[in-house]
Amino acid sequence: MKKLLPISTAGSLPKPSWLAQPETLWSPWKLQGDELIEGKQDALRLSLQDQQQAGIDIVSDGEQTRQHFVTTFLEHLNGVDFEKRKTIKIRNRYEASVPTVVGAVSRQKPVFVEDAKFLRQQTKQPIKWALPGPMTMIDTLYDDHYKSREKLAWEFAKILNQEARELEAAGVDIIQFDEPAFNVFFDEVNDWGVACLERAIEGLKCETAVHICYGYGIKANTDWKKTLGSEWRQYEEAFPKLQKSTIDIISLECHNSHVPIELLALIRGKKVMVGAIDVATDTIETPEEVAKTLREALKYVDADKLYPCTNCGMAPLSRKVAMGKLNALNAGAEIVRRELSNGNELI
Ligand SMILES: [Zn+2]
Repeated sequence: MKKLLPISTAGSLPKPSWLAQPETLWSPWKLQGDELIEGKQDALRLSLQDQQQAGIDIVSDGEQTRQHFVTTFLEHLNGVDFEKRKTIKIRNRYEASVPTVVGAVSRQKPVFVEDAKFLRQQTKQPIKWALPGPMTMIDTLYDDHYKSREKLAWEFAKILNQEARELEAAGVDIIQFDEPAFNVFFDEVNDWGVACLERAIEGLKCETAVHICYGYGIKANTDWKKTLGSEWRQYEEAFPKLQKSTIDIISLECHNSHVPIELLALIRGKKVMVGAIDVATDTIETPEEVAKTLREALKYVDADKLYPCTNCGMAPLSRKVAMGKLNALNAGAEIVRRELSNGNELI
């Protein structure tokens, strides 16, 4: 029988301090050339081992080979000039210096396919691979060529589909698109955002996921969260369209968030990766806290469709804290698994 409540992480995990400055986003590499290639692979193996020790069922590369979940992908594309930078507001929230689209975008060569093959060689467990979503990509750039967010998003969707098909061929079981921008640009999500996402997964036979969150636990995000009031209803905007979409899994932030859990009813029928670990605090959840979040979600998600997960990536955390949180996720899921198999009434 298939294991109930298989656990996974949203994506990134901390990097070892010999590879990159810890607890920092866009942290520069500490190695170069061949040493860097070998170092990234070593870090990937360590990250996999950490996940296995913590009992993670669906493992990932921990994003050890990328500096950032969006920019590393962009670096491999034609038409994006990293020398020509502009300061823009990302997700209407914080300013960042970003590269410029100066011509037609296309993929020079596969971006993560070799890394995915390497991970596939290391384990027989199901693997999940994260890619940036089209809308989040256009929001991390200055566009001086297409002059249309929608047009550029469609181009990125085509490129992502090429990459996704090759990841599938490399043996990836679940391909996840990170779309935190879905929590910000509601009209665009409904006009073309979900359609672009469906273009990105066109023709795939492996499972597909979309991760929508309130961002890493960095100051700009925690400050933004303070302005959102006591109820976060952002998911309400995208859920009806996503429920009807061809995407298999929806990955969400639930623990310690002000998202009314009943919003999950809007995606009834989809598999849901329920964030039961807060990535914006160093406090390690107790297994019981994790279990409580999962029990709440079970009111709206069938048990065979519930995947306990982290709220978002854990790259900015220390390795020790991240490891503690993974262990808590496993222990909390185990509590609920036992309750489900005992047929206990859920509290
Ligand atoms: Zn996230």
